[in-house]
Amino acid sequence: MQNKTDKRSLDNKIEFNFIGRVHSPYKEKFAIPRQPGLVSAAKGTITLTGAANSPELVRELAQFSHIWVLFVFHGTQEQGWKPLVRPPRLGGNTKVGVLATRSTFRPNPIGMSVVKLDSIEVEKQQVVLHISAIDLLDTTPIIDIKPYVPYSDSLPQANAGFAQSQPPSNLQITFNQKVKEALVEYNKNYPDLALFIEQVLIQDPRPAYKQGKSDDKVYGMSLYDLNIQWQMQGLTSIEVIDITSITTDSLG
Ligand code: SAH
Repeated sequence: MQNKTDKRSLDNKIEFNFIGRVHSPYKEKFAIPRQPGLVSAAKGTITLTGAANSPELVRELAQFSHIWVLFVFHGTQEQGWKPLVRPPRLGGNTKVGVLATRSTFRPNPIGMSVVKLDSIEVEKQQVVLHISAIDLLDTTPIIDIKPYVPYSDSLPQANAGFAQSQPPSNLQITFNQKVKEALVEYNKNYPDLALFIEQVLIQDPRPAYKQGKSDDKVYGMSLYDLNIQWQMQGLTSIEVIDITSITTDSLG
């Protein structure tokens, strides 16, 4: 017996081959922004794969500053889906229909993000799209890419219910002295690392129910191969207290 909400219980099946893979500094779900565009310093790539890996598929795409990326929520796919979810925007308590949200737990685990297309490179027959302001987990399978067309895709007057505007943030981000010194070194390999960390933390990656509440917990997040530890200082400040490299640990 299959569960009613099991994704396999959909009657009609369509199979797609993925056309590319994402390489992203976000190695785990925690701390990924909730939409693209919020963290401009989040840079990644899409490498086209299989039959889709040909420069012909992207001929003239570089004219467009932004692209739609359609992808599979492969990191949560195994968990199936739910008809009702609790969006963080509503404090994580109110349930709404999954199709009224951008939740990852949908009948078909398909995500869509508008991202900035910085450049397209072909190196040794490999097509690579350099993208930024992404909200994509590392190794995300890509099922389609389309140019973003503002005259039709941008509707600034549209109503967006509980998600009308970007969530405001009153958070200040600080770095302790040890972290400031480490950042000078890390900056050689990870340009804009401080800005990237700051933009991620301003979004307040903590679960919705913790927001606006005092919190002593030391949080860890991974960006690239770095483990970054931080802690709330009062209600409106986050201090970055440690950065260590998971692979080399040379500055740990
Ligand atoms: N812009 C997309 C995604 C919104 S949900 C859309 O609207 O469809 C954003 C969350 O997706 C991020 O916080 C991240 O945790 C999650 N995410 C990104 N890539 C993922 C993946 N490959 N698998 C599972 N979750 C992913």
